[in-house]
Amino acid sequence: MTTLTGKGVYGAIALGRISVFKRKDASVKRTHIDNIEAEKARLEAAKAKAAEQLQNIYSKALKEIGEANAQIFEIHMMMIEDEDYNDSISSIIETQSVNAEYAVAVTADNFEKMFASMDDAYMQARSADVKDISNRIISCLSEDNGVDEMSDEKVIICADDLAPSETVQLDKDKVLAFVTAFGSSNSHTAILARNMNIPAIIGVGEELLESVSNGEFAAVNGYTGEIFINPDEETKSCLEKKRAEDEEKKRLLQELKGKENITIDGTKVKIYANIGSVDNIGAALASDAGGIGLFRSEFLYLESNDYPSEEQQFAAYKRVLESMAGKKVIIRTLDIGADKQVDYFNLAKEENPALGYRAIRICLTRPEIFKTQLRALYRASTYGNLGIMFPMITSVSELEKILEICEEVVNQLKAEGVEISDKVELGIMIETPAAAIISDKLAPMVDFFSVGTNDLTQYTLACDRQNAAIEQFVDTHHEAILRLIEMSAKNAHDNGAWIGICGELATDTTLTETFLRMGIDELSVSPTFVLKVREAVRRCDLSEK
Ligand code: PEP
Ligand code: MG
Repeated sequence: MTTLTGKGVYGAIALGRISVFKRKDASVKRTHIDNIEAEKARLEAAKAKAAEQLQNIYSKALKEIGEANAQIFEIHMMMIEDEDYNDSISSIIETQSVNAEYAVAVTADNFEKMFASMDDAYMQARSADVKDISNRIISCLSEDNGVDEMSDEKVIICADDLAPSETVQLDKDKVLAFVTAFGSSNSHTAILARNMNIPAIIGVGEELLESVSNGEFAAVNGYTGEIFINPDEETKSCLEKKRAEDEEKKRLLQELKGKENITIDGTKVKIYANIGSVDNIGAALASDAGGIGLFRSEFLYLESNDYPSEEQQFAAYKRVLESMAGKKVIIRTLDIGADKQVDYFNLAKEENPALGYRAIRICLTRPEIFKTQLRALYRASTYGNLGIMFPMITSVSELEKILEICEEVVNQLKAEGVEISDKVELGIMIETPAAAIISDKLAPMVDFFSVGTNDLTQYTLACDRQNAAIEQFVDTHHEAILRLIEMSAKNAHDNGAWIGICGELATDTTLTETFLRMGIDELSVSPTFVLKVREAVRRCDLSEK
């Protein structure tokens, strides 16, 4: 048995045969070309074919993994038309009188290196995208489809790395797990694997490809990031047992649908779902969540090439509110900046982006963006039960300004004769230590708090949430964090506000009882965790000391 370890990006178990993912030989030869114009025409034809293939992949992805995740293939289609990329290919063909394959390969190599050398993890991940589209163009030039056909058996795919288009092209029904030698947890492949609910491990290292061969039996533990090649009987039966337990747990959890979120002693709590896009509503509804506790509205901006208009935003908010049919929907205003960058905002590069110009700071200094979003939100308010939540609050004066702007927008809309619900709740995220510490001052100004434990942890423990190298210092159960949550809960209740938690810590069922004892009223988690948290709530007995 050989055991290798990487980073598990989707926790689940798989046992089966390995299929080593091979691309057809993509090595490119340099040949001399006499007719430059004919070569350029050949290139254009290949690009058109590549764009057509991408359009088909995009349509497939749209059906299987939703618009937000399929977006990457739209970006690929745009990259094929990128001016710098195309200028480079043409100039290599013209100045060196060489074949198009060679010009594309050299350009790809240069662009990949350029992206890989950038500081920003998101931009680094784009080097895989350039490689992906370039390989596609090269294979179209050589009339080759690039990717190997898969066998009929369900397999564990082992690869050096998987490009997003390769991931989505794999037949989901035939894939037991993904294991890759390289790749980052920020890559689209990791994100796609998570969305496809397939056990996945990335970054195992070069030894992965040296250690595996086609048809070998392996076991993948997506929880621990381990792959066991030719596992011994003990490992195999241990993981088979874990897999059966997972299946049984999933089955039992389904039985909790329609049941109350109530503890043994009768304390009730709300369990809502977090969503990042309008496409996630289906999953939220299927999860039996009582509402939406966090709609990360910035994804509307991230998915767009320009500021989304009031009408576009209104349509999205209306759809979420109508789909939730009267259940609470908390929409968080724009939280852009730091790790969520959008070109058209033209944000300056910062030394410490997490401590920089982000979220509410952008909204307060660029009020036209903020007002457009607020107008869309208030206009949509009559279509359901809306809560508006503001991120990254640190002071009373910020909140005063926000409330003034809200009032101004409401008055303006009313003057225009627009109907607005009078039940819209306003709340803030408690995700900075400052907000938690002055929560006694902030609570009387709002209807609710929602604790963003992801940022609260980063700012309290001084641990950059993007930096994998310091993961060992991130103690999510740190007493300082728990005390800040408890303090915020007390101050909320003393001032007539309610309090929820919408950061990842809400999914940590070892803390469910602690949160309930603090008086937390709502837990908002990704749809896949709703029933798991319900189960944890139903096991708690708060009457016991
Ligand atoms: C948080 O910080 O906990 C949170 C929910 O917001 P985000 O993860 O979007 O920053
Ligand atoms: Mg946050």
